[in-house]
Amino acid sequence: MTRIAFIGLGNMGLPMAQNLVRAGHEVQGFDVGAAPREAAEAAGIAVAEDLAGAVAGAEVVVTMLPAGPQVRAVYAGLGGVLGAADAGTLLIDCSTIDVETARDVAAQAEAAGLAMLDAPVSGGVGGAAAGTLTFMVGGSAAAFASAEPVLAAMGKSIVHAGDAGTGQAAKICNNMMLGIQMISVCEAMALAEKLGLDQEKLFEISAKASGQCWSLTTYCPVPGPVPSSPANRGYQPGFTAAMMLKDLRLAQSAAQAVGAATPLGAEAAQLYALFASKENEGLDFSAIIKMMQGRSG
Ligand code: NAD
Repeated sequence: MTRIAFIGLGNMGLPMAQNLVRAGHEVQGFDVGAAPREAAEAAGIAVAEDLAGAVAGAEVVVTMLPAGPQVRAVYAGLGGVLGAADAGTLLIDCSTIDVETARDVAAQAEAAGLAMLDAPVSGGVGGAAAGTLTFMVGGSAAAFASAEPVLAAMGKSIVHAGDAGTGQAAKICNNMMLGIQMISVCEAMALAEKLGLDQEKLFEISAKASGQCWSLTTYCPVPGPVPSSPANRGYQPGFTAAMMLKDLRLAQSAAQAVGAATPLGAEAAQLYALFASKENEGLDFSAIIKMMQGRSG
């Protein structure tokens, strides 16, 4: 049993914290929002009055926060984790944030004598609830070895990507591939429709041909061929268009920072920015097919 502080009890954080409790760990949660705090208490998570209260006495701190500014505030802000944690506490940030902030906060943790990992996830809310998330982890090998048993309670695939920041790098590179692939499948499906080719037939052919990819065979953006894909339930997420846009923007700012050419990543970010208006931002990211079909709001 490990004493774990869990900060950020939102859509992802709450089910992840629940899995830590189920695995026999002692969890103290905290969230700035009253609604997530109440939902966590109703789900059987002990919730502290404040951040310092959750972190006091913890052997491990896990954070699952919206973006870089919140991660910076929670760790390095006044009364933050870096000041409140006991010596030897292991810090694991599972949020999806920019590489620069991840490296900067990890360096501040190191200066305070604390080991920190960036450990973003893929698998979404469903994977968080089922305990089947994939963790991409950046940080020292020693910290990774200590974190593995804790992460194993929340995920099924845990990969050490390299030094600090490489977990975030893996996450944005992967999601840039995913965003580009999804757009390519949507364009091909929309073109097939206009050419009088049945979309189910294109699926049948491409699923076994060189166009095969995850966006086609696991997450098909048209209803029918893959019954579990969001296209079969009115594009309810899943993984929202707004989250895809967030990750594509993170990839673009990282590419600019290191001078990498990512023209298709840039185009994908533009297309998701056009699509993810107020009306569409909460839809699954595969709903971008509506734009290619000229049917988006
Ligand atoms: P969410 O908005 O539901 O949860 C974030 C929680 O953090 C909220 O409850 C919020 O009140 C809390 N919070 C914000 N600032 C805080 C602070 N200073 N102190 C304490 N709590 C604070 O978001 P989510 O969907 O759970 O996503 C969390 C992270 O996981 C994001 O970085 C997201 O990109 C990433 N992610 C989400 C998914 C998904 O499908 N939802 C999938 C993969 C990765």
